[in-house]
Amino acid sequence: MNVYDSEKIRSAMLGNGYVESIDANDSDIIIFYTCNVREKAAEKLFSDIGRISGKKDKIIAVGGCVAQAEKEGIFKRAPDVRIVFGPHVYHKLPEYIKKIDSGIEQRIIDVTFAQKVKFGHLPKKSAAKASEFVSIQEGCDNFCTYCTVPYVRGREYSRPSKDIIGEIVDLIDRGTKEITLLGQNVNSYHSDVSFEELLRSVLKISGLRRLRYTSSHPKDFTTELMAIHNEYQNILPPFVHIPVQSGSDRILDMMNRGHTISEYLQKLRKFRNICKSVSFSSDFIVGFPGETEADFQDTIDLAKEAKFSSFYAFIYSRRKETPAYNMPNQVPLAEKKRRFEELLRVLRKEELEFNKNCVGSTQRVLFEKRGKKENQYIGYSEYMQSVVVENDSENIIGTFGEVLIKEGFQNCLIGKLNWETELGN
Ligand code: SAM
Ligand code: SF4
Repeated sequence: MNVYDSEKIRSAMLGNGYVESIDANDSDIIIFYTCNVREKAAEKLFSDIGRISGKKDKIIAVGGCVAQAEKEGIFKRAPDVRIVFGPHVYHKLPEYIKKIDSGIEQRIIDVTFAQKVKFGHLPKKSAAKASEFVSIQEGCDNFCTYCTVPYVRGREYSRPSKDIIGEIVDLIDRGTKEITLLGQNVNSYHSDVSFEELLRSVLKISGLRRLRYTSSHPKDFTTELMAIHNEYQNILPPFVHIPVQSGSDRILDMMNRGHTISEYLQKLRKFRNICKSVSFSSDFIVGFPGETEADFQDTIDLAKEAKFSSFYAFIYSRRKETPAYNMPNQVPLAEKKRRFEELLRVLRKEELEFNKNCVGSTQRVLFEKRGKKENQYIGYSEYMQSVVVENDSENIIGTFGEVLIKEGFQNCLIGKLNWETELGN
């Protein structure tokens, strides 16, 4: 979501005559766009500002979720910052910069919650890549007790379907082949149509080659959504991110996740029955307040049973906006780290096994960047694996290719491009 927002900020700035610089020393304006989900990311902001502070000729702006959470506190901790803007007002940034630049204002803070207004003013992307994000939903009403999102991104807002379709059609007209629909809770999307209805409309857009969505919530996975995956496997990959967070019912309840582990596993089973080739990834939090060794072992058992093909695991981070901040029995950091390492070992084993099982298969890959060697290209498979191939004759970035997988490692697959297929599309 922050990548999407940052690209929109870039487009708004370019559209107002500013030129992008990649070196902070050369820049007159430095914009930080921030994440507040974990403390480490929030603290990094202040150390990054520290490195460029003292240069009074530069305008420093801090936006996004840390700005929304800390508000005027940003000016107190980093007095050289001139603009603080929340995630719902970034379309106004060029106007605010002009006011500071011309001396009309010395400092500006805008942390208004205004998703609807923002989505009505989204700047068009200046250039479209082969794979693009499109935000369809923002904010969250679930209030998981550890999570800062409902406080900084606000209550759930779903964009009207015609605006989403319009943005996608425009990107495809300009060469995009893969779209990832974004939302803090993407499958709880409900506007003039349901998430499932939106998916069906998007899947019918001519020229769309691949569709993904993230991040989803287990309780919003409907049987119809599973059926759509099965029906449109050629466009909607059989790969689903379905965050579970913990394997313990007691912890899930304390997290306010709204489902049990047996309900979760039942959904995975049902999904596998409806769509045979599906694989899952998940998010985990270890060391939630009150998590005992037995609760943690439930998470290990779940990881072994569910067999995720990839994962994101996090050490619980205490966020002051949230109810879990004040919960008793906070787990000591050393213990959180030990559990984290143990969980990583299990999840990595499953991931490696999945990647090794892909050897001999053919994967459909969209190439997005060059590798370390001159003739190397890296793209992503339907299961979001990073796939590396060598190709001497032409630049294949932005094209789909069928790749025969030769080797499977923890973080990538190595393959051979099949010349008989879709190259050049
Ligand atoms: N809405 C999705 C869901 O509920 O599954 C996930 C969106 S959330 C912003 C992304 C991930 O960040 C979560 O799934 C969770 O694993 C992690 N996360 C959120 N708050 C956290 C915290 N306080 N400490 C550690 N990880 C956290
Ligand atoms: Fe955060 Fe996801 Fe829970 Fe919403 S559902 S509060 S985004 S973890």
